[in-house]
Amino acid sequence: MLLIVGSLAFDSVKTPFGAVERALGGSATYCSVAASLLCETAIAGVVGDDFTAKERAIFAGRRIDTSGIATRPGKTFFWRGEYGFDLNSAKTLDTRLGVFGDFDPVIPESLRRPDYLFLANIHPALQLKVLEQMAARPKLVALDTMNFWIASQKETLKRVIEKVDLVILNDAETRELTGEANLYKAARLLRSWGPKRLVVKRGEYGALLFDGDHLFALPAYPLENTFDPTGAGDSFAGGLLGRLAETGAVTGAPLREAMAYGSVVASFTVEDFSLGKLAQVTRADLDARLKQFIRLTRYELED
Ligand code: AMP
Repeated sequence: MLLIVGSLAFDSVKTPFGAVERALGGSATYCSVAASLLCETAIAGVVGDDFTAKERAIFAGRRIDTSGIATRPGKTFFWRGEYGFDLNSAKTLDTRLGVFGDFDPVIPESLRRPDYLFLANIHPALQLKVLEQMAARPKLVALDTMNFWIASQKETLKRVIEKVDLVILNDAETRELTGEANLYKAARLLRSWGPKRLVVKRGEYGALLFDGDHLFALPAYPLENTFDPTGAGDSFAGGLLGRLAETGAVTGAPLREAMAYGSVVASFTVEDFSLGKLAQVTRADLDARLKQFIRLTRYELED
């Protein structure tokens, strides 16, 4: 089982191709829907009383255990973001923590022994509290974050990063967190803090994996119609970790293959606003696109 702690949110998003107001979002939402295509998942997080049965319906009929989602009086996390013509980086216009502001997570007993744990984008103090409640060390602990937390909670964030196995960040976040402009030097520095592995997401240009002495690069799945990149990073992480959980692996060739799953799942997310497309995707869709992706990336010396 993959346990995911992260945000459950309402997002107002504007891109050059359209806009949505208070659409369903959040790092844990995207990640769990993506990963549940591949493995059993569970979510830890909090929502306000404005998160109704309509929003919760996204989790129904999937391999997502929602017993770790607490409901508190107040407002669900809200994020407002905008993208320019270059969809690679979001501009945050507003972040309202709402019920996440003073949330003290208590992970249900039944969820304290996950094989895989993903500390998705949320306050690093919360990530730490969840990690500390695990009854046994998971096979793999992965972490994602964003500039909002890097800027405001860097020391706490570094304390969590020291304790994880795999960090998944985008290129700008990697540079900001390490203070190093060159990605390869930044990766070396970040891994000297503790994590053995690092994935650097590069938006439409794909992703890099630093795993031991190995460097591995994958492009993104090429798409002619992209609408909203929100949640692509979380879907990527969900596809990657979901595939690892499915195979039982944590490193090496299966981790490289899991990156391809992450890239392909993320490619569905950007094809519509919110979870519009991702929620419709089946395992068969995923496998079919993965086949195309393998053709795209295969490289041989002989014909
Ligand atoms: P990404 O996959 O990086 O595009 O993440 C998009 C999701 O992150 C959105 O659905 C937001 O609700 C969520 N989000 C934005 N800012 C934060 C934050 N500071 N902490 C946690 N989640 C956030």
